Amino acid sequence: LARNPGETEFHQSVHEVLDSLGPVVTKHPEYTDSAVIRRLCEPERQIIFRVPWVDDAGNVQINRGFRVEFNSALGPYKGGLRFHPSVYLGIVKFLGFEQIFKNSLTGMPIGGGKGGSDFDPKGRSAGEVMRFCQAFMTELYRHIGEYTDVPAGDIGVGGREVGYLFGQYKRITNRYESGVLTGKGLTWGGSQVRTEATGYGTVFFTQEVLRARGASFDGKRVVVSGSGNVATYAIEKVHQLGGTVVACSDSSGFVVDESGIDLALLKEVKEVRRGRLADYAELRGAGASHTERGRVWEVPCDIALPCATQNELEEQDAVVLARNGCTIVAEGANMPCTPEAVRALTEAGVTFAPGKAANAGGVATSALEMQQNASRDSWTFEHTEERLAEIMRGIHDRCLTTADEYGSPGSYVAGANIAGFIRVADAMLALGVI
Ligand code: NDP
Repeated sequence: LARNPGETEFHQSVHEVLDSLGPVVTKHPEYTDSAVIRRLCEPERQIIFRVPWVDDAGNVQINRGFRVEFNSALGPYKGGLRFHPSVYLGIVKFLGFEQIFKNSLTGMPIGGGKGGSDFDPKGRSAGEVMRFCQAFMTELYRHIGEYTDVPAGDIGVGGREVGYLFGQYKRITNRYESGVLTGKGLTWGGSQVRTEATGYGTVFFTQEVLRARGASFDGKRVVVSGSGNVATYAIEKVHQLGGTVVACSDSSGFVVDESGIDLALLKEVKEVRRGRLADYAELRGAGASHTERGRVWEVPCDIALPCATQNELEEQDAVVLARNGCTIVAEGANMPCTPEAVRALTEAGVTFAPGKAANAGGVATSALEMQQNASRDSWTFEHTEERLAEIMRGIHDRCLTTADEYGSPGSYVAGANIAGFIRVADAMLALGVI
């Protein structure tokens, strides 16, 4: 705490992992002897930089850019970039720390990192977003590369932004280095299913949870928070598997649509018009109702998928969800449930799937994009989606087996933390004290 004052979210994420590791260090004293845990908590490198750019009115704007290269024992640093006014070092470090274990859990050769800026894309023109991305990459380019650090998208950074970032990287370096970024467009080195991967992956993971209890999505009522990339494709996959998403949200409120969120309309509003959920409700007419502010978790459901942002589902929400009959909460976002909410869910017998397992499909598909870039290949949608489903099944089963082995049967939290930790810790032991 004293070394990292004020980094609340980082402290929260470290506590969350360390809480699970007691049985591991008892069984394997070698991790303590070589200070693996203390080394894991210290990023290998943190970069903070100025991002000056000119807005449409000709004013100079200054933002702050971050890249935290947390751990490269398993492969190049890998993790997204977030553009949101709330971004500061504590957020980037929490996301980077989570990313180490998530990436490890996928079984793929990727280390952990994260970055972003306090730039707020809301209300900015496409030209302003492009100039910001170019200014951001003008510093970031010297720190990243196919074998070093491979950023992707996150909140506020989608296909459009990755395009501007890649364009500037290519211009500065004079190299068409496809493997330097993931989440690229399909015509310039991107992978099928990457856009859909985090949302689809969360639903595939939830499907495994259902399957383990002999059930399926068929006929289930689902509530999703957020209406961005992860939320949109979680909704799509739930509908494909026979469930109905009856509500979703954004930072201004939520929409209830009892006959199921109209995905084509949602995509039109969010991806084409870059509008708000209130616009969705207006266009949808009588079928949907919009509530300003309020808590989407009050809408009764069987399954809740928080897909917006950290600490958005609090203890009181957990109590309401359980009371209304929800039996599964799976995190599409990173750390959307507060520790108090997780405790309340667990006490109420609700199955809880943590983000580092349930949302790992995004980064796993990024690793598939890197594979395709390295071999100058491109796979079909069907093949890539099957790989994703297989990876999510693998993560699910690894969580349960590991939880069993370390004395917490059925706990996806213990399973994800311990399995993620052991793989990266073993690599760190093998590489020596570095
Ligand atoms: P987007 O920017 O596409 O969407 C974010 C959504 O969350 C929007 O609906 C946004 O509403 C809402 N939101 C963001 N911040 C807040 C806030 N402070 N309060 C309330 N609502 C908020 O981001 P993604 O869908 O890509 O990311 C969502 C979550 O998933 C994040 O936690 C991210 O780290 C995680 N994640 C994303 C991956 C990916 O591949 N994209 C991979 C793994 C995890 P509004 O538009 O009103 O701001």
